[in-house]
Amino acid sequence: MALDFSHMAGCTRCDLATTRRRVVVGSGPRRAALMVVGEAPGATEDEGGAPFIGRSGRLLFSLIEEEVGLTREQCFVTNVVKCRPPANRAPRAGELAACAAWMDEQLRAVAPRVVLVLGATASRALLGLREAMSVVHGRVVILEATPALATYHPAAALRGGPSVVDVIRADLAIVKTLVSA
Ligand code: URA
Repeated sequence: MALDFSHMAGCTRCDLATTRRRVVVGSGPRRAALMVVGEAPGATEDEGGAPFIGRSGRLLFSLIEEEVGLTREQCFVTNVVKCRPPANRAPRAGELAACAAWMDEQLRAVAPRVVLVLGATASRALLGLREAMSVVHGRVVILEATPALATYHPAAALRGGPSVVDVIRADLAIVKTLVSA
């Protein structure tokens, strides 16, 4: 049976419920080899209703396809915060806390082989990694018995250029070994 997270769509657990257009729940198959977790929806995702459908998402999934050999449809894609923060500010601690149970529920339901976490906010919230991304990226940690690792957010790659892309590619090579293990 397909995964159904539509019960999250009316969430009012934090104030983002008053400014969002829609809850971007995320989607993908149960037992996806890879679960991809970003920070929060942007304007494009708030409008379109799916995570990572803008420019950074296009870059991200072209890199995942090239380095890991998985398409977007084969991955489960979501965010630690499921509603767009106004003006794309970083999610606040209370918003991350309010959304944590949804993330937990998705992790258990999907039961992926590997979790890839994008950017400092998501890796701090989900993996407890507090140092700079330059230090923690590519480090394999265990999240609910599942190997997980953090890498740069693709928006940082759009800003930072080829050197950031190279680091993401190297981290995705680790993801590939974990997915195939
Ligand atoms: N950035 C994110 O972290 N998530 C999205 O869904 C889009 C942009």
